[in-house]
Formats: sequence, structure tokens, C-alpha cells
Amino acid sequence: MSTITQLIHSIPVDPQTGAIAVPIYQTSTFVQEAPGVNKGYDYARTNNPTRETLEKIAAQLEGGATGIAFSSGLAAIDAIVKLLQSGDEIVAVDDIYGGAFRLFNKVYDKFGIKVTYVDTSDVQAVFNAITPATKLIWLETPTNPTLKISDIAAIAKIAAASKCLFCVDNTFASPVLQQPLALGADIVIHSATKYLGGHSDLIAGLVVTRTPELGAEIKFYQNACGAILSPFDSFLLIRGIETLHLRVRQHCANAQAIAEYLEQHPLVDKVYYPGLKNHPGHAIAKQQSKGFGGIVSFTFKDDTEATALSFVTGTQYFKLAESLGGVKSLLCHPASMTHKSIPDEKRRAAGVADSLVRLSVGLEEPADLLSDLDLAFYKIQQAAGSVLSL
Ligand SMILES: *Cc1c(COP(=O)(O)O)cnc(C)c1O
Repeated sequence: MSTITQLIHSIPVDPQTGAIAVPIYQTSTFVQEAPGVNKGYDYARTNNPTRETLEKIAAQLEGGATGIAFSSGLAAIDAIVKLLQSGDEIVAVDDIYGGAFRLFNKVYDKFGIKVTYVDTSDVQAVFNAITPATKLIWLETPTNPTLKISDIAAIAKIAAASKCLFCVDNTFASPVLQQPLALGADIVIHSATKYLGGHSDLIAGLVVTRTPELGAEIKFYQNACGAILSPFDSFLLIRGIETLHLRVRQHCANAQAIAEYLEQHPLVDKVYYPGLKNHPGHAIAKQQSKGFGGIVSFTFKDDTEATALSFVTGTQYFKLAESLGGVKSLLCHPASMTHKSIPDEKRRAAGVADSLVRLSVGLEEPADLLSDLDLAFYKIQQAAGSVLSL
């Protein structure tokens, strides 16, 4: 049986009623026959049948032992950091998701957890950053918004040799394209808000662990700290996952077409997409992933914020919004949106140019997306022309 069929049919038919959709158990507590004698559920923070179904599907998707569902991607990240003690250190990817950076530096710093940021696309740099206090390596690949690629299997070897945990934030690739646990990671996390949910209608986080022991530890924090996913959002996320394979395939095809179009556009300077042969991470991406994802970034030859801003307000189908991974195409201008709090020089050094635009390529007909971009470029050319003729 193919893994897709297996996944779809692992979503159980309700044994009580035969309902083919997963029932939403909207309840806070469960009646017990005697103290401690119950049907496997006692209080819904600890366990809920709808969430439990999602958690099993998540484990299967990533090929892990245990899945744990949280109320957001950041709550999932938070639960992993709680495995550490004060005095421990983290080695993390340098262009890490901004929310994770804030959590590490503004929250866990005051509890004595130190983070060293390195360019993880350079395996030697990861090795060099490890100290006896390093207990966790934190990776994103591809990264946001410049789609940097790191070698998961090589970093897994460093983690194993240094006896530290290795966690991969697999949000951008999705488990359809990339399975970090099979490449040696201990933990995978997702902002399921993005591709797994896939319809821009919920906030959710998932953790999947390679071993049941690690799963039990994180499940302890899920219950002890309480950032659980609700039954309704668990239901929505299961529904999203049912079509994940199909959606991701189309996101990849549409993004590849757009990246190739952008590459030859006269106004465009750099295009960042791991599916392009000239992308520095192309070979590793090809080796460790089944596809290159739905995110494409690019800069303008006229590298000004003004040009990028007129572009991001000049499209019709690409809507201006933060987030990614949904059915509808989105675009954003990181320098003035997601990366606004980073000082200009530091941001530019990280490759986030003033004119960089990030596209989350959706599931519309690719020809329509291309003509949408074409029109936005044309408006910029027209405006430049009219300025020159003044
Ligand atoms: C969005 C995102 C997160 C945070 O997830 P939320 O669901 O918004 O809390 C973490 N990592 C990556 C790579 C993301 O894109």
C-alpha cells in the first residue's frame, strides 16, 4: 500500500457510529466508573480523542513514535526548550524564524539558556559552535526568506557525536517533501498553521519524536504547561492533512514555474528557490527532499524598499499578508514586515535585501499567477517611465 493510501486510511472510522469524519469531542471531562477507572480519558487537557487521532496521524506523517499537538507552532517550540535546564546551550540556524528568536532571546535567556547562531549550511560551523554545554541543535531547512539549505544527515551525525538533541523545524518543507527523523533528527516540529493546515484558517503546532521516551517527556510538558490544541482545531487540521500530498505537489509545480519566470525577468536581480540549479543548496535539497516547496523569494535590480512596496501592493491574486502555506497565494515584504525589528545592517547581512519580496505560491492556476506578477512588474515599469519623462 502506498504511504498516501496508508495515511488516508489511518484516519479511523468512528467505531461507535460509523462516522467517516473524525468526531469533535467537545468536552472538558470524562465520566469515570470509579476513581482512576475510565475509558482512557479523564480530563481533556491531558487527553482528548479528537486530538489523540491527530497526534497519531502526525507521528505517522513524520515516521516517528509520538505526535503531540499544541495550540501554535511557537507553543511546540516552547515545549522542546523545556527539555533543557538553565546553563544549557542551543546551537541554532542563524536565519531562524523570528518568533523562535524572540522566544530564545527574550524569554529563555533570562532562565539561563544561551543560544549561539551559526550558518548551518556550513556543517563545519555547526561542529565548531558545539561546547560541552550544548544540549540542543535547532535547524530550519529551507530557511525564511532566503531558502538556505542545510544538510540534515550531516548535522545529525554531529548531534549524535556530541550527545545533544537535534530538532528540525520542518514547516517549510512539510513531511511530504522531507522527513528529518529518517535522516537522523530526534525531534521534528511544525507550525501546522502553514502547509499542514493548508487553508489559512487555524493556528496549530505539532511535535513528533523519534523515540517514545522523548515523546513521553514532551507530552508531560504539554499537560503540565497546558498549551494544547482544541478539539475543533484538531479536526480542522486532520481535514487539512487529508489533502496534504496533493496540495504540496501543486505548490511545488506552481513555485517552480514562477521561479523560472522570475529568473528571466529584466527587473529582477536574485531569485531564491532551491529548485533552481544555480541555488547554492540545490544539490543537497535534491538529495534530502522530494521537492523544493512553495516559497520563492526575489530581489529587484533597483534594490529599494519603494520598488518592493509598489510591487507588493500591485498584485491582485497574491494577497499582502504574513504567513504561508495556504491555498491562496500570499506575498510579503520581510524588511518592513516579518524582519522589521532586525537592525537594517544586520538584516541586509543576513541576505534580506531592502527590495526582497517573499511569495507563498498558492494553488491557483499557474498561468493566472504569472500574469498577476507580470502586471505588477508592468506597473513598476510604467511608473519608472513616467518619472523619467517628467
Ligand atoms: C510560522 C512559523 C513558526 C511559528 O508558528 P505559529 O503557528 O505561528 O506559532 C515557526 N517556525 C516557522 C518556520 C514558521 O514559519
